Amino acid sequence: MTTQERLPRFRAAVRELVSYRPEKPALSPEGRSYALAANETPFGPLPEVARAIQEQTEGINRYPDNTGQALTAEIAERFGVDPDGIALGCGSVGVAQQLITAVAEPGDEVLYAWPSFEAYPLLTRLAGAVPVAVPLRDNAHDLATMAEHFTDRTRLVFVCNPNNPTGTVVGRAELEEFLGRVPPGCLVVLDEAYHEYVRDKAVPDGLSLVPGRPHLVVLRTFSKAYGLAGLRIGYAAGHPEVIGTLRKAYLPYSAGSLAQAAAIAALRSGDEVARRTGVVTAERTRLAAALDAHGWRPAASEANFLWLPLGERATVFGAHCATAGVSVRAVAGAGVRVTVGLPSDNDAFLAAAASFPSA
Ligand SMILES: *Cc1c(COP(=O)(O)O)cnc(C)c1O
Repeated sequence: MTTQERLPRFRAAVRELVSYRPEKPALSPEGRSYALAANETPFGPLPEVARAIQEQTEGINRYPDNTGQALTAEIAERFGVDPDGIALGCGSVGVAQQLITAVAEPGDEVLYAWPSFEAYPLLTRLAGAVPVAVPLRDNAHDLATMAEHFTDRTRLVFVCNPNNPTGTVVGRAELEEFLGRVPPGCLVVLDEAYHEYVRDKAVPDGLSLVPGRPHLVVLRTFSKAYGLAGLRIGYAAGHPEVIGTLRKAYLPYSAGSLAQAAAIAALRSGDEVARRTGVVTAERTRLAAALDAHGWRPAASEANFLWLPLGERATVFGAHCATAGVSVRAVAGAGVRVTVGLPSDNDAFLAAAASFPSA
């Protein structure tokens, strides 16, 4: 038999996925590099987190706590929620995958807005489910049109608030109305990865919407404001019965011991996290105003990034920024997302934008 004939037969859903291409960090002619493509915090490890990880290294020959009791208790206490309503995962992407696995049979539908988080179509296809993407309106969720796309096969709907990549938000009234329109048997996953950067008072804290709504699960992560992107830890909050089922779909030990210890320390560093998010939100205001003044029209953002709806110019703009050492996220044909960094990062981006030949 030839090598070709000996290859295993892969599922069609997996064959059709495109391979992940690692992106090279941009480098300016002077050798400078600005990492504004992945919405990470520009700050290094929180001091308490560094200490907790150091202590935890002693025990890395042992498996982590598979139920994550200490971290779950810390989250529950801090946010005033039932510990039985919290499930940990390998990043909130890991939790999202568990959720789809728990609710969608092959051929069932998963609904989301588009453009939104790129993991949604990937996880949906991996599960053999059918993605249903509803275009944003004015860079924001069009919940009324999304509600028109419910079918008897819709098992899960993602609402990303603020939305990645546009930073736009849905308010409490709008979201509550949508939650009331969700058909029986369908789960709403409110992805609040950027919750800590929200300053708009009209945006609800998703955790406050959970009581009395067993069809709602909130996703939170330690990857963004808490600065633990490299450790892979996130969680879901929801009705204990839903969370109990979700935990059964957990890939054993996928939330590691360093990640759990670091997340506890990060939660206990709330004041410093608030200070850091304050620096970023102030820079968000400054960067948005500077871009606006130069006619770039960024979307109104409540997250740690800005979206420039450049349409067909997105890719060339992204390539132009790269020549100045600024890595941004260009979504072909749609726009460019730039992470808000430290003032010097943002100035480098502003300089790159100003030198873009705009005709
Ligand atoms: C970054 C991000 C996450 C975080 O994913 P992790 O797996 O927790 O790192 C989740 N949702 C959205 C929309 C994001 O942008």
